[in-house]
Amino acid sequence: MADTRIDLRSDTVTQPTQAMREAMLAAPLGDDVLGDDPTVQRLEEAVATLLGKQESLFVPSGTMANALGILSQSRPGEELICHERSHVVDWEAGGYAALGGLTTRLLPGDDGRFSLEALTSAVRIDDPHFPVSRLVVVENTHNRSGGTPWPLAEAASVAEQARRLGLCVHMDGARLWNACSAVGCEPAEYAKHADTLAVCFSKGLGCPVGSALAGDSETMHRARRLRKMLGGGMRQSGVLAAAALYALKHHRHRLTNDHRRARRLAEQLRDIAGISADPARTPTNMVYFDVDPSLGRASDLCDRVSDEVLMFPTAAQTIRAVVHLHIDDASIDRAATAISAAVA
Ligand SMILES: *Cc1c(COP(=O)(O)O)cnc(C)c1O
Repeated sequence: MADTRIDLRSDTVTQPTQAMREAMLAAPLGDDVLGDDPTVQRLEEAVATLLGKQESLFVPSGTMANALGILSQSRPGEELICHERSHVVDWEAGGYAALGGLTTRLLPGDDGRFSLEALTSAVRIDDPHFPVSRLVVVENTHNRSGGTPWPLAEAASVAEQARRLGLCVHMDGARLWNACSAVGCEPAEYAKHADTLAVCFSKGLGCPVGSALAGDSETMHRARRLRKMLGGGMRQSGVLAAAALYALKHHRHRLTNDHRRARRLAEQLRDIAGISADPARTPTNMVYFDVDPSLGRASDLCDRVSDEVLMFPTAAQTIRAVVHLHIDDASIDRAATAISAAVA
């Protein structure tokens, strides 16, 4: 029997649609490590154009895109500056340190953002005692802050200040598409405030695999070698790039539906006694909500509803629910009803 549970664990759980599979099946292929996969080339050109960068590179994961962005712009012993709850620091197995040999300075701030003052004071003076401050990572949307997009003006002022301070800017745009939908701008408008960007096709866009790194040709030349070094050179990867091309065309502009439904879920959760959810703090496709301790722990509630709804606890009393391609209005209502029944 088909699994009818509503899976809100992540926007990575989507299956390729029939139309996407047909696009994959029809794609002309080559060997991308040898440089002749036409579909990968088409994707890399399309992404570079969309982001207004000289080149882009197709990679297996967002983690690799971030690692390549960071490693191609730094040397061991240098320092990375980012928000204290960044994906690159918390969820990528310490790659910046293990592979890049970097130290970090972590900045506090609301909604995954940080002030110009915090950024400026984190930069080291030129003294042989200190690591060299090298780059700043901006995460957009910011996952752990509820999928919050950076306002364009703030992304601009952080980039401007970073460049004044001699830092490179890497944007972790795993959900850049969601940020663009939420603030109503084109990807290139954010991208001009970053030297390199990582973007994912396997999240909101619904692809089975794939991310990209974009930047100038010189940086991408280094990133290409690093991709090979880390084992990310793929052969007939046009079959995956075809899914990404399909998704950029057909799934990017539907993200507003996910955002509307996430807000709808937050509204329904808000009305359940013992649950705190804030629709006004649900700008994109993620709903983070708190569970009153009188209802038990967040993990207990996730277990209690798991026959009907799958979600992840993210803290003792906090749960995350993520809306994606396979979630329609009825799924939202069913999920809220199941959660309501489980706490009653
Ligand atoms: C998921 C995610 C990544 C990494 O993507 P993977 O493809 O899972 O490696 C990077 N940054 C953010 C903000 C993410 O949410």
